[in-house]
Amino acid sequence: MDPVIQQLVQEELQRQRHGIELIASENFTSQEVLNALGSCLTNKYAEGYPGKRYYGGCEVVDKIEQLAIDRLCQLFGAEYANVQPHAGAQANAAVFLGVLQPGDPILGFDLSHGGHLSHGSSVNFSGKVYQANFYGVEEESGTINMDKVRSKAKEVKPKLIICGASAYSRDWDYARFRQIADEVGALLLADIAHPAGLIAAKLLNDPMPYCHIVTSTADKRLRGRRGGIIMMGKDFANPWGKTNKKGEPIMMSAILNSAVFPGMQGGPLEHAIAAKAIAFGEASQESFVQYGRQVIANAGAMARAFTDRGYQIISGGTDNHLMLIDLRAKSSEITGRDAENALVAADITINKNMVPFDGRSAFYTSGIRVGTAAITTRGLKEHHCEQIIDWMDDAITNRNNPAIIQEIKTKVNKFMMDFPLYP
Ligand SMILES: *Cc1c(COP(=O)(O)O)cnc(C)c1O
Repeated sequence: MDPVIQQLVQEELQRQRHGIELIASENFTSQEVLNALGSCLTNKYAEGYPGKRYYGGCEVVDKIEQLAIDRLCQLFGAEYANVQPHAGAQANAAVFLGVLQPGDPILGFDLSHGGHLSHGSSVNFSGKVYQANFYGVEEESGTINMDKVRSKAKEVKPKLIICGASAYSRDWDYARFRQIADEVGALLLADIAHPAGLIAAKLLNDPMPYCHIVTSTADKRLRGRRGGIIMMGKDFANPWGKTNKKGEPIMMSAILNSAVFPGMQGGPLEHAIAAKAIAFGEASQESFVQYGRQVIANAGAMARAFTDRGYQIISGGTDNHLMLIDLRAKSSEITGRDAENALVAADITINKNMVPFDGRSAFYTSGIRVGTAAITTRGLKEHHCEQIIDWMDDAITNRNNPAIIQEIKTKVNKFMMDFPLYP
């Protein structure tokens, strides 16, 4: 009925099939997730929560949303979950709305060191409404120095400390963050949008016992639909002494639920929630643990291959699915933007990224970020990763030679035919 959009969707499918997808935040969902997203559930309005809706006819979507909540709690060993946030940034916004007052100090990981926009960046509402402060990595080691996090926290007395990042390849010491939070009287939020699937598979440290609140996306490592989630390992009474009409303390679960709706959003997207429920079910299978192991093995193989070819990995390696590569070690001439352009022309999709203490702007950058979640879903193994790094090194080195880039692209497209995506 709409040949223009139909044609463009086909073009995008071909792009996804033929290219090597290394953007660390991307992944490929299952056909079942796609089907749920295209289902009649999109027609239903359901403001409120299961059993407490402001619209009639919610019997079926109540069951779907409850199943999504139950599966998510089971997957992470959480006592509370909210599956309504439309995306990861909205999940964080709801937490901020629930636990902070405008002007309150917060402490997050510096965006230019690998943090996320929604943790207090000056261009995001979180940096405009709250008083944002940051910790970062050490220039020498590329890792977070917890003693410095502690002294920063003692200095700025944040109401909320945020751990989690978009471009940090090392695991997090949630227990130490909690000690610091307790010492300064802050709540602790972990945003695990990137490593969530690896945490669910128990391949990385678990934030649930230490962080008051945990947010994530359902897409990245959880391989579900684009969307946000909020969890708590244990529900607890609000620390501000707020009581309900009966004089009982209000629980954080109630505060977070009302921060999402009606605080931040209108009706939930029930087709998206069904897709999340499917993804949480998939992520609880044994095969998902195997997938997580392969994601980490592939990232390790890539980091070694980059290092062998003269590139520098920030922090010297990776514990998870991603790495940040400082191109300056290879040559001071190469910008992240030039590398991105050459690689994308060869159908190897990555993003330019600032590296800590970058002398270039966010528009040019001195680094690139790569991740292995999407190619591992396609079935690629360690030895394939080495081949990919050969092509990447070739493309970056010959970034001003369109004929060589074209040759690499032809090889990439032929190579990816062996890894089918969707029937
Ligand atoms: C991707 C990401 C988000 C939010 O993602 P949306 O694009 O809003 O879904 C939040 N936090 C971190 C750390 C992320 O990497």
